[in-house]
Amino acid sequence: MGYDVIIAGAGASGLMAAIAAARMGSSVLVIEQKEKAGKKILATGNGKCNFTNLVQSPECYRSDDNAFAMSVLDGFDTQRTIAFFEELGICPKEKNGYLYPNSEQAASVVQVLMMECRRLGVDFAYNEKVIHITEPYFTVITEHRIPPAAENKKAIGNGKKGSKGKRTVSDTVMNIEEKRHFAKKLILTTGGCASSKLGSDGSGYLLAKLFDHTIIKPLPALVQLKSPENYCRTLSGVRMAGKVGAYTNKGMLLSEETGELIFTDYGISGIPIMQISRYAAKALDQGNKVFLKIDLLPQKTIGEVILLLDRRIGNSIGKTTEEMMVGLFHHKVSYILIKETGLDPMKEAAKLKDREIEAIAMQIKEFHMRISDTNSFENAQVTAGGVATAEINEKTLESKRRKNLYFAGELLDVDGTCGGYNLQWAWSSGYLAGTAAGRKRHSFEESTGAK
Ligand SMILES: Cc1cc2nc3c(=O)[nH]c(=O)nc-3n(C[C@H](O)[C@H](O)[C@H](O)COP(=O)(O)OP(=O)(O)OC[C@H]3O[C@@H](n4cnc5c(N)ncnc54)[C@H](O)[C@@H]3O)c2cc1C
Repeated sequence: MGYDVIIAGAGASGLMAAIAAARMGSSVLVIEQKEKAGKKILATGNGKCNFTNLVQSPECYRSDDNAFAMSVLDGFDTQRTIAFFEELGICPKEKNGYLYPNSEQAASVVQVLMMECRRLGVDFAYNEKVIHITEPYFTVITEHRIPPAAENKKAIGNGKKGSKGKRTVSDTVMNIEEKRHFAKKLILTTGGCASSKLGSDGSGYLLAKLFDHTIIKPLPALVQLKSPENYCRTLSGVRMAGKVGAYTNKGMLLSEETGELIFTDYGISGIPIMQISRYAAKALDQGNKVFLKIDLLPQKTIGEVILLLDRRIGNSIGKTTEEMMVGLFHHKVSYILIKETGLDPMKEAAKLKDREIEAIAMQIKEFHMRISDTNSFENAQVTAGGVATAEINEKTLESKRRKNLYFAGELLDVDGTCGGYNLQWAWSSGYLAGTAAGRKRHSFEESTGAK
């Protein structure tokens, strides 16, 4: 038996596409390689699911073609998303424009989507990984991993490596068989490469390539940055507010953000770092050297910082330079700022020369950190890059390369900033793709009533 629409991937965009297609009257099958749907949704917003944001602007979405993203988002915007989820039962709760379900449980979002899929008669095939697609129509070939039967499990043991060298559950756990599903239309919603433990392992790019689609190199985004600086270990664990700019060695500003920074033993984290990470990742990938300039007192000009230091020195009779800084920054930050200036933290503050005070002020305003890499895809919340949007119709999400093939979600070359924008992208693109794929093309007789 064939379906009108097959959807590969039961994440946010896949579930939205399934509902939209089924609401158009199509029969729908969702194929998911994990044992259940929506695993990544469960992890979003620290388990609370920041599912959209009231503040929307082009800067919240990044892509090689931002106009494409904005057109899709206009097609199914935040207000429609909120109304869609309210109709399903999600009562939204707002915090500074960020929207969460009032239950503060991401599981509620998965639950309402699954209840709607059930109401609409959407079929699901779990533990099936789409490995190949052939034509005519779409023959979707999957690898079906069959968990061992209970009695088999018992016979094998508890899953740990047996001391007598017996095979374990993990060695023998899955029987694999090949399956085929047939459909007139296919929507690929397999996500990117971020957090592959939640299912998105990049296999969707290979499927897109079967239809000659171009893949913009996938890179980790919304991710921490690594640094080779020796001071990272000293600063590890310190959190402080600041303005951070990422630059190339040619002095080009890549991106700038303000907020709470978290120093770690490998480098730096925090929301502003996550926001700029995709630009750092791209620049590093293109062979540039990247460094951060951190302004630790962004509310003050350099002149005001010098005056502040002068005043503190005036009040610091008998104190060392390090002691003069107590109460201004975390003591580890003060120590590193003085060291990076090339001064002795034990030097008497009153003996600091003007140029030394200016040098400390410059460190405060432009603290440098070299960046060697991003953390891995495993630590990333999203993927920058993906299927090139120039090859996709912005109204329907249909491929311009292959009729009846559609794409949605993170698999495409669109990534959002922190704040609910990635899920909004998944909902908007999933909805448009599902609606277009699910639309039945009526014959002339059907649409006119002619006999
Ligand atoms: C920890 C974390 C927290 C986040 N928090 C937020 C947040 O609060 N707000 C926000 O907006 N965004 C958040 N994001 C990002 C957001 O979750 C994703 O951008 C979004 O879920 C992507 O949806 P998707 O449907 O495109 O892909 P995914 O959710 O990745 O779904 C893809 C699905 O396809 C399946 N699949 C993959 N390949 C195959 C195959 N070959 N065959 C069959 N199935 C396949 C996968 O198993 C998976 O279920 C977060 C991400 C992470 C990792």
